[in-house]
This record gives sequence, structure tokens and C-alpha cells, in this order.
Amino acid sequence: MENIIEIKQLKKTFISEKKQKVDALNNINLEIKEQEFVCLIGPSGSGKSTLLRLMAGLINPSEGRIDVMGKELKEPIKEAGMVFQEYSLMPWRNIIDNVAFGLELRRISKKKRYEVVENILKRFGLEGFNDSFPYELSGGMKQRAAIARAIANSPKILYMDEPFGALDAHTRFKMQKDLINFWLEDKRTIVFVTHSVEEAVFLGTRIIVMSSRPGEIIGDFKIDLPYPRNRWNEKFGKYFKELMGLMDGEVNKRTKKDTN
Ligand code: ADP
Ligand code: MG
Repeated sequence: MENIIEIKQLKKTFISEKKQKVDALNNINLEIKEQEFVCLIGPSGSGKSTLLRLMAGLINPSEGRIDVMGKELKEPIKEAGMVFQEYSLMPWRNIIDNVAFGLELRRISKKKRYEVVENILKRFGLEGFNDSFPYELSGGMKQRAAIARAIANSPKILYMDEPFGALDAHTRFKMQKDLINFWLEDKRTIVFVTHSVEEAVFLGTRIIVMSSRPGEIIGDFKIDLPYPRNRWNEKFGKYFKELMGLMDGEVNKRTKKDTN
């Protein structure tokens, strides 16, 4: 498989409100192949969301470059979709029109876009909710709709920033399974940010570990486990322990830095 994303010598510095420089990311080099399911983990503040926003072209690097599908990224591209933790649905639109929004922007006829979207709603367990409004849906259902909306544009790349972070454990497990099934049926490149090691080992073909600020890549693991994954599997436990060890080290380092 070819590289779909290539990041070279990337650095991102923000200027805080107090006019101080904040080095969020440093020395990031990363190549992601087509159809990989990459999970990005790291302590809070390690620059995971920043890296995802950079890959999506929502913000620009301070140094270095990002190439997506062989071209230097300058702005968001239509081949990539994004799902955030907050349900980013428009409260005044019903579910079908929320999910069909991207197709509407592309001036696809109502008949055609409803056809496409009804299929996707079915696939994501939202059958029968076409006419419901976001406030009538549970958190899990709203997040299903947000994922369905990103997928309706048939993106080659799906960027997801802690999409299940606000859901209860039971709903989260169900959503993880559904996401894996979708990806197995219809392989895309997924870059999935989470602070949960367990979620990352359950989902990813590969896990990238970020250090505390400034965020650098301190681990790159291939997860050699078949799908659907079983959390009680011995090898699952081994990956989990190894990654937890690495993450714990990072969190402790930061706590020390902060108290000094
Ligand atoms: P994570 O998603 O891993 O928790 P973020 O990418 O949100 O981390 O943030 C990384 C660092 O960059 C944090 O210290 C954060 O405060 C800082 N940061 C992020 N966005 C901005 C911004 N727009 N302005 C200033 N600082 C920012
Ligand atoms: Mg974040």
C-alpha cells in the first residue's frame, strides 16, 4: 500500500494569550499507509488534537510539511472527513438533513442524497430516525449521526478526535465494534485520537504514542491481532501493559515538571 499521509519535520508553536510561545509539537515524522487504522495516544496536552487538525488542514504547521495523497496540504480537502468529540450536528436540521449536509453543499439532488444517506443511516443503526432532531437523540445516537455525516461524503481518510470520549462504557463498546465492522467492510484510512490505551489496542492496526509537551512521537507499534478483537486475549493484555507503561512514564514526567 502507498503512503496516503506523509509528515516531515513538523513543528507547531502557538502563541498563548499571554503572548508566550507554546511548543505543542516538535520533530514529527510520520508516514501513514492507505487503509491503516492508526490510533494516536498520549497524555492530555501532548498535541494529539493539534496533530489531527494539522493533518486535516484546519491549521498550518509552523515548520515542516504534510503531504496528503501526494500533494502538499494547504487547506482541508474533500477526500477527508472529520468527527469530533462534541456532537457537531446542526440543531435546526433533522437527522437525514444533517447527515446529507455535505452532499447538499455539493449540489447533489435531494432524491439522490436521501438515497445515499438512508443506506448509511441503516448501516449505523439510525433507521427510523430520519425526521428526528438532534435533541431527541441519545449521546450515542448523535455521535452515530456525526460519523454517518462524515462518511456520507465518502472520504478516503477519516479523522476522529476522541469520538467516543463522552459516551458511557456500554455505548462506547458498541460503537467501537460498529466502527471496526464498517472499516473491515469498507477499508478507509482512519486516524483516531484517544487517551484510552485499551480503546487503541481494541481498534488500531497501529498505535502512535505521543510524549507530553512538546509532543513528540515516542512509540510506533504494529498491533498484530485479528479482528474482531477480544479484550481477554493474552496478547491483547501484553500490548496493553507495554503501552500503559510507556504512557504512565510520560504522565509522571509531566507531573514532576508541573510541580517543580
Ligand atoms: P491533546 O489533544 O493531546 O490534549 P492539544 O493538541 O489540544 O493536546 O494541545 C497541545 C498543546 O497546545 C496544549 O498545551 C494546548 O494548550 C496548546 N494549544 C492547542 N491549541 C492552542 C491554541 N489555539 N492556542 C494556544 N495554545 C494551544
Ligand atoms: Mg485533544
